[in-house]
Amino acid sequence: MHDTRDRGKHKARQYSHGEPVRQDAPTRKSLLMQTPVLVLNASYEPINICAARRAIVLVLKGLAMPEEENGHCLHAARIAMRVPSVIRLLEYRRIPHQTRALSRKNILLRDRNTCQYCGVVLSSSDLTLDHVVPRSRGGSSTWENLVACCHSCNRRKGNHLLGETDMKLLKEPRPFTLHTSRHIMRMIGRSDNKWRKYLFY
Ligand SMILES: [Zn+2]
Repeated sequence: MHDTRDRGKHKARQYSHGEPVRQDAPTRKSLLMQTPVLVLNASYEPINICAARRAIVLVLKGLAMPEEENGHCLHAARIAMRVPSVIRLLEYRRIPHQTRALSRKNILLRDRNTCQYCGVVLSSSDLTLDHVVPRSRGGSSTWENLVACCHSCNRRKGNHLLGETDMKLLKEPRPFTLHTSRHIMRMIGRSDNKWRKYLFY
């Protein structure tokens, strides 16, 4: 009797001990992998933001080196790696001072995942792109005519021109240039001390 109970307790302890680790580890890891990392050119000029996953690949490939770490450690297979907060490219990359590629990803980045009509902030998968002047009314797919939009505002607006509704844009949509990305880098950098010295000069 005593024996069985003891074995049961032991099993329970093992179970409760093992369970949270199995559940938490992948979640924490995938969150860590998405942490934004500041990318510097070889000249220390900030040029981009990427996810930690991409930053680690660049470092492992020998294309970049970590300049700052975020204090977290990532264990994969048999190696442990410190997660970078800032990386620097080893070879200087010429950045043309022109507009970035027009893409869904870049429009959501420009609009900071914020519905440009009601201001709600959503994950990329919960946002859609809205043609300010609907395509059916001659609107084109350009930086100035595409904005991040939640599904409910998108349905509400339908095929109307803005003037035919009571909806308003939060701000006028502009092309996404290096200037825009600098602005976004600074906004994110405000909460990360390790980014500051590269951004506020
Ligand atoms: Zn909305």
